[in-house]
Amino acid sequence: MSGVDAFAAQLGDIPVQTEPALVKRKSRDFYWYSPVLKRQLDDRFGEIVVLPRDEADLIAIVEAARATGTSLTPRGGGTGNYGQAVPLEGGAIVDMTGLSHLLWVRDGIARVQAGMNMLELDRALRAQGWELRMYPSTKRTATIGGFLCGGSGGIGSVRWGGLATPGNVLAGRVVGAGDMPEAVEVRGPAVRSILHTYGTTGLMSEVEITVEPAVAWQDMAVAFPDFAQAAAFGRDIAMQAGVQKKLVSVMDEKLLPFFGSLRDKGPAGAALVLLMIAPSGVETTRELATAAGGVVFHEADTLEAENTPGQTPLYELTWNHTTLQVLKKDRGYTYLQSGYPPDGTLDKVAEIATLFGDEVMMHLEFMVMAGGISCAALPVVRFSDEARLNDIIAEHESRGVLIANPHVWTIEEGGMHRVASPDLAAEKRRYDPLGLMNPGKMLSAGLLS
Ligand SMILES: Cc1cc2nc3c(=O)[nH]c(=O)nc-3n(C[C@H](O)[C@H](O)[C@H](O)COP(=O)(O)OP(=O)(O)OC[C@H]3O[C@@H](n4cnc5c(N)ncnc54)[C@H](O)[C@@H]3O)c2cc1C
Repeated sequence: MSGVDAFAAQLGDIPVQTEPALVKRKSRDFYWYSPVLKRQLDDRFGEIVVLPRDEADLIAIVEAARATGTSLTPRGGGTGNYGQAVPLEGGAIVDMTGLSHLLWVRDGIARVQAGMNMLELDRALRAQGWELRMYPSTKRTATIGGFLCGGSGGIGSVRWGGLATPGNVLAGRVVGAGDMPEAVEVRGPAVRSILHTYGTTGLMSEVEITVEPAVAWQDMAVAFPDFAQAAAFGRDIAMQAGVQKKLVSVMDEKLLPFFGSLRDKGPAGAALVLLMIAPSGVETTRELATAAGGVVFHEADTLEAENTPGQTPLYELTWNHTTLQVLKKDRGYTYLQSGYPPDGTLDKVAEIATLFGDEVMMHLEFMVMAGGISCAALPVVRFSDEARLNDIIAEHESRGVLIANPHVWTIEEGGMHRVASPDLAAEKRRYDPLGLMNPGKMLSAGLLS
């Protein structure tokens, strides 16, 4: 019996999928946003999909994997970039979407199964008067576990910082692949072992996150004559302490033509600031936008846009959806992810904006970083070849703008600091001594003797 057949034979009544087209489909994520990763990962597939229903199934899956030397690649909604959910060494895809319940919510804390879809989670929270602090622009398809293990921040980060900001994720429950597979509760600083580690430290069954009282967010799109003015207003509104906001995104003049839902509403050639503002802040935002030389040309109820077929909430034009809107029209583009320093942010943005002409479309996301307001950027880049992409990265870094490179598949090379971590290696040893969990994605594992 081949390895994966022996694995399947040990699973008892846990459902599996073996139909080749389906297994191939579930071996994909959005790695293809990178032409570099597309070339490298197009032929990497799992051999079987397993569909756990509860934590007992997760433990049985890990036991079967240990007994048969089968690697396990967890999968939520499959919206990750970086090839996070693409198995490098075959084995089994663990589809986590069967663990999909909100367990409880009280006092601003929610406990939820990790495979729950984030749109459904937000709706379930809203039914009890709460909402997610933070979600990726892929809220419709992503799971909360996939967001914690693969994402970094998103809509809400302008108020709450990133996922790794203490206080946003309180705990997780993880089934590791250690000698005695069991579910372990990780709380407080220990949560770092699961955040953005691509499932290399175990299968996360539950998470505990902080949530906020629900708000009827309002989409507002503001047009400016040029990018510098838009960026200045974006920073200003992000810093306005009296205006409650969930999203402050800035797009340069080249991006509006790619936004089907806004293109015909905004002035041609405008740079944009896209906002989600609480109803109490709408009037003030209109006043501040006008005073800054902007024109508010679109206002809508975010939830209504989210729930109405044919409408696009503004957040689906932001974060990495900006790249998606461009790719829908032209597959010749890719993107980068960068972090700007909190001091002199706008000067640095202006400096970078002059460097690349039509080759790069500038896109900023204002957020809390290290306690202050700064911005991340996801510039959309016209792809020529890998060498040029690396030049563009080097041009950023030589000017003090850090790049989280989305054209590599390891956790460390895709981070802003690119160093293998002894702490991460220790977590790996503890939770996955046999190296079965999403193998090949963690460089720090190489520090283990
Ligand atoms: C158009 C687009 C927009 C995006 N916008 C954002 C954004 O705004 N912010 C952001 O941070 N990211 C963003 N991303 C990246 C991605 O969508 C997010 O990281 C998302 O939250 C991933 O969730 P998922 O359920 O699809 O995870 P998947 O892609 O299924 O998995 C992501 C990683 O987590 C692992 N994993 C999944 N579930 C578990 C589990 N239960 N236990 C252990 N490991 C697990 C997988 O193995 C994989 O390594 C975007 C991507 C795209 C394509």
